[in-house]
Formats: sequence, C-alpha cells, structure tokens
Amino acid sequence: MRNQPDNNGFYGNFGGAYVPEILYKCVTDLQQSYQSILESESFKKEYHQLLKDYVGRPSPLYYARRMSEKYGCRLYLKREDLNHTGAHKINNTVGQILMARRMGKTRIIAETGAGQHGVATATVCALMGMQCEIFMGATDIERQHVNVERMRMLGATVHPVTTGNMTLSNACSEAIRDWCCHPQDTFYIVGSTVGPHPYPDIVARMQSVISEEIKYQLQEQVGRDYPDYLVACIGGGSNAAGTIYHYIEDERVKIYLAEAGGQGIDTDFTAATMHCGTEGVIHGARTLVMQTDDGQIKEAFSISAGLDYPGIGPMHAQLAQSGRTQVLAINDDETIYAGYELTRMEGIIPAIESAHAVAALSKIEFKSDDIVVLTVSGRGDKDVDTYLKNKALAKEYGNF
Ligand SMILES: *Cc1c(COP(=O)(O)O)cnc(C)c1O
Repeated sequence: MRNQPDNNGFYGNFGGAYVPEILYKCVTDLQQSYQSILESESFKKEYHQLLKDYVGRPSPLYYARRMSEKYGCRLYLKREDLNHTGAHKINNTVGQILMARRMGKTRIIAETGAGQHGVATATVCALMGMQCEIFMGATDIERQHVNVERMRMLGATVHPVTTGNMTLSNACSEAIRDWCCHPQDTFYIVGSTVGPHPYPDIVARMQSVISEEIKYQLQEQVGRDYPDYLVACIGGGSNAAGTIYHYIEDERVKIYLAEAGGQGIDTDFTAATMHCGTEGVIHGARTLVMQTDDGQIKEAFSISAGLDYPGIGPMHAQLAQSGRTQVLAINDDETIYAGYELTRMEGIIPAIESAHAVAALSKIEFKSDDIVVLTVSGRGDKDVDTYLKNKALAKEYGNF
C-alpha cells in the first residue's frame, strides 16, 4: 500500500527517522507504540467521539453549482473550513493529544506557520488541561496576528523564532531543539505529514478521515464512491494526504496537488518544493528539499504562511516522483484571484492556502460529467488583511 511506510518509515526512497542521539529513545518509543495505540478500541472511541461532538464532523461535501458551471465539471467542495478552529489541523491535534496522554506525557510543544496548527494544538491542550508551548516565526507572528492572540487566550505560550527568514521551517527547527532539552515529559505534536518516522504516518492516518467521509458522501450524493479528480493544496502535505488516503490505489481517480509557487518557480521567491527541490534531509526525514548546491536549506517564500516550507512530506515526494500525483505550482497572484473568485461565486472565503487548490481548477481540462472533489482546507478569516492588501495582484485575471 502506497499510503503506508515500510518498517523503517520509508516510502520508497523517502522518509526514515534522522534524529539527534538525544531524541532516539523518544522517537523509537513512539515508533513502537503508535500503531497499538491507534488500533486500540479505547483510543478509537474517544477520537471519533471528539471528532463528532467537538470538531463537528463529518464536514459537509458541498456541490458548488456556480463554480461547476464555470469550470465545466461537477465540483464538490470538502468543507474542512467548517471544522472547529477553522481548518483540517484539528483532526490531527485531537488524535495526537490523546496519544500523548496514553504515553504519560504532560507537556506539549508544537511549531506553527499560519498559526492554524498552533491554534489547533492550544485548543486541545485547553481541552485536556495540558501545558502548551508554541514555536512560531517572528514574520508569521506579524502576518497572522489574530491567531497569535487566539493561542494566548487559550493559555499557550507563544515563542517567537528569530532565526532565518523567521517562518515555519525555522519554527520547526526550534521546536525540535526544545524537544531535545525535554525528551522525558514532552510530546511534540507535529502539524503535517513531515518529520521523522512515525510522524508522517501518524498525521496521514489522523487526516484520513477526510477521504473516509468523501467515499460515503459521494456514494450518497452521486451514486458512486469515487471522484474522477481529487484536488488539494499541499504544504507539508497533511490535508492532501487525508484527501487522497483511501484513493491512492484507485487508478480511476486522478490526483492534482497545488503547491505554493510564490512569485514563480523560476525566481528565488518560491515555496514549490516538488518543482524546485532535490533529495536531502530536513526535520528528521529524507525527502525533497529546496537547498543550495552545498546542501544548505533555502528559504521558502509564499504569500501563504501555511505553505511557506522548503520541504514536503516523504509520502508525497514518493507519490509525485512515481507519477501517481500531479503537482502544480500556483503563484501568489493566481492564488489571490482564486480566493476572491470562490468568495464571490460561492460565498466561501477560503484560507489563502486553500485558494491555491481553487486556482488549480483553471489548469486542468475537465469533461462536463467529471466529478471533482476539492478540499477547502481552511477558512479565510485569518487572511482577510492579506486578501485586501494584495487585491491588485489578481488584476491580470479580472476585476473584483
Ligand atoms: C496548515 C495549512 C495547510 C498546509 O498544511 P498541509 O499539511 O499541507 O495540509 C493548508 N491549508 C490550511 C488551511 C492550513 O492551515
């Protein structure tokens, strides 16, 4: 199964667990216990109860009539934006905090880019009464200020990270440093399908509820349980992994993923790892990485703080390299346009990350009876300032 790593955490050439000596025990403990925790009846019961009553699942699968007409297909939106805290991230944090408790950990750390994972982590820490420390780049603290205040209100401590370009990648490094100092009592809740094995597998499984629901929702609404196309945005790869998880072996389903082109893949201001990356190691896994010729990690640039990452989950590196998924680089201007378009045509303001997926629609040639499921990974309330500030960018494609 291509959605599962081998025993050492590899998806083909990618994955593994490249961690400093001091974390070795933590990581092997987690590797040895995660499957039995995930498969235990008590975990499943608590997890699914919380997804239903706390997160608000299942999230709707919504037929987008006006956008369907425009793109000449039958477009369904998987509404992760309607989850508690506003994105898919909470599916994963609910699961990981239950795991942390079962492993006897008392202190939670997490990295965050746009702040959605930080908010989702701070939320479940409040729910469980656990100490919460969030690492966030100073640049992101500035552009996602409301999320910072939400985390603080929830009782988390937000640590500004001032290394590098002060965004997500630097926040990850800092979280790993903290973890090295407190390996005994601390559980690191990783926010995407990245990091050392078993994190990519844990996060993919937690998010796989998305495609589990798509299956029966499509069956109910269109009379078959698979679409012709799946479309999702991809940063580290968690909402994409969840969207495709139960369809990877089903070759009837074409998969298009939208990564952040920034100002263009031929510029230095991009976060399109799958287009511009080469094999290397980042944050504990072997994967595609944007790096210099001598192996220094390059800074990633994107208008979207949630996609601003120079790596990519190992499962996705493997799927793209094998041709199972098609990856499109979507630039900032196309993203802003798509965000406005979904807002004006369906009354849904998408997160700027999710707007990348919407922009991918114009790059795929559909037949009129094609069923397309696009995951709206989050809501755009946090991005209203960015949309307004960058409205002029969308001008080339039409006016709003
Ligand atoms: C974090 C985030 C993403 C990117 O992360 P993935 O792990 O690639 O899903 C996308 N959309 C939203 C709304 C996010 O908050």
